[in-house]
Amino acid sequence: MTSPILRIEDVHKSYGALQVLKGVSLTVQPREVVVLVGPSGSGKSTLLRCINLLNPPTKGRIWLEDQEITAPGVNQDRVRQRIGMVFQEFNLFTHLTALGNVMLGLVKVRKMRKNEARDLAMFELERVGLADRAHYYPAQLSGGQKQRVAIARALGMDPHIMLFDEPTSALDPELTGEVLAVMQKLAGEGMTMIVVSHEMGFARQVANRVVFMEGGVVVEEGTPQQMFEQPVHERTRVFLRNIT
Ligand code: ADP
Ligand code: MG
Repeated sequence: MTSPILRIEDVHKSYGALQVLKGVSLTVQPREVVVLVGPSGSGKSTLLRCINLLNPPTKGRIWLEDQEITAPGVNQDRVRQRIGMVFQEFNLFTHLTALGNVMLGLVKVRKMRKNEARDLAMFELERVGLADRAHYYPAQLSGGQKQRVAIARALGMDPHIMLFDEPTSALDPELTGEVLAVMQKLAGEGMTMIVVSHEMGFARQVANRVVFMEGGVVVEEGTPQQMFEQPVHERTRVFLRNIT
């Protein structure tokens, strides 16, 4: 039995009096693709933000590989370097080209020399199918291309796990396919991923596991087949029926 990449144990998160996460536990194995679904406001983004310590839990513990990242005194920047994060908004620097955006963290965070950073950034842009757009600025790219640049930027940090928070929700429908295809390719390369998404075709094809959250708890989890065809809970069935 291999040891998990990520272990979340009884995580709670409150904002003042508002309890958003009410005891979430989840374990992710290497190479696993977990698709996280649930109604708006159920705490999916909050959970991802707890995992990468953007918003640490108010209670509970999280391990990344064999390190407890919620322990006092942990170097949060070092933890975040091992966790790639892709958001709905791409957050690219508009004054930098695609290549410049991917190179930035390599130079600033990984302390690479410019030449080395340029080579790796080109490699990552090729990986997402954008080698020919390396010198374009964000304003010259489509939404799908911008999101693929954001994915290349995250990959450049050599993450051990990738977290995607509704990566295609801001895109026109005709542009979601190219982003999902890149994510499917990464899954095929063995990247461990947690993906918050309403793209149930992707969940069926790519997920090893679907996790359904509602009201700050995990209601049910299982293989796509179990979740779509014979969910145990009525709430799961109603939710999945309404989005597929
Ligand atoms: P989801 O991603 O599933 O739609 P979120 O995790 O974004 O849900 O939000 C869950 C709940 O937490 C919502 O009620 C939201 O308003 C609240 N929330 C999220 N972030 C904050 C914050 N920084 N301050 C206060 N409330 C927040
Ligand atoms: Mg969200």
